[in-house]
Amino acid sequence: MAEVYVLREGNLIIDGFDSVTAPATVTLVVYEEDNENKYLLVDAGSLWDTPEDLDDWLSDTPYDITHEDIYAAIITHNHPDHTGLIRYLGGDTGATIYGSDSIFHNRKPHIFYIDESFSAKDITIIQTPGHETSRDQSVLVDTPKGVVAIVGDLMLNEKEFTNIADFSQWPPEHNGYASDSRSTIKNLEYVYKVIPGHGPSFEPKNFI
Ligand SMILES: [Zn+2]
Repeated sequence: MAEVYVLREGNLIIDGFDSVTAPATVTLVVYEEDNENKYLLVDAGSLWDTPEDLDDWLSDTPYDITHEDIYAAIITHNHPDHTGLIRYLGGDTGATIYGSDSIFHNRKPHIFYIDESFSAKDITIIQTPGHETSRDQSVLVDTPKGVVAIVGDLMLNEKEFTNIADFSQWPPEHNGYASDSRSTIKNLEYVYKVIPGHGPSFEPKNFI
């Protein structure tokens, strides 16, 4: 079983056309492999976040780790509020980044690479296109309490889960794909908690 820690809870405050405050959710997933803990991020902060911020968030977990101990990150989509810290992860060798290759065109010359063959017990990547590209993805994590779905900006917050056709807060690039992907998540009845890109976690069973 894996463990999930929301390191920084996302938010979305739209205060007029030019004023948007939108920290994105950053999530740590911890699992055991070959008798050692593996530390994985799902989404990696914003361009204005710093490695010190990440270390601060990590200090609130039970693990004595820093950004250098993060061996990999799964990026839900290639927007700068979700990719900002990837170049700092993993120490000298860099971390493995799982995501759309367009991420890397924005970030050269940093040390990391794409390996699409991600495989870990209790962690599954599913394709949930719509918000940014056809390559957007979500992560399902099997924890002792049940399956957690980390969905990035497929759903900015709980409001969008309750009404999958509501794109009023931030329109996706492809409404049709986004509606289908939201339905995919909503129909996963075994999911007990959803972690959205810009709001607090919520329990979907409250709404079904
Ligand atoms: Zn975002």
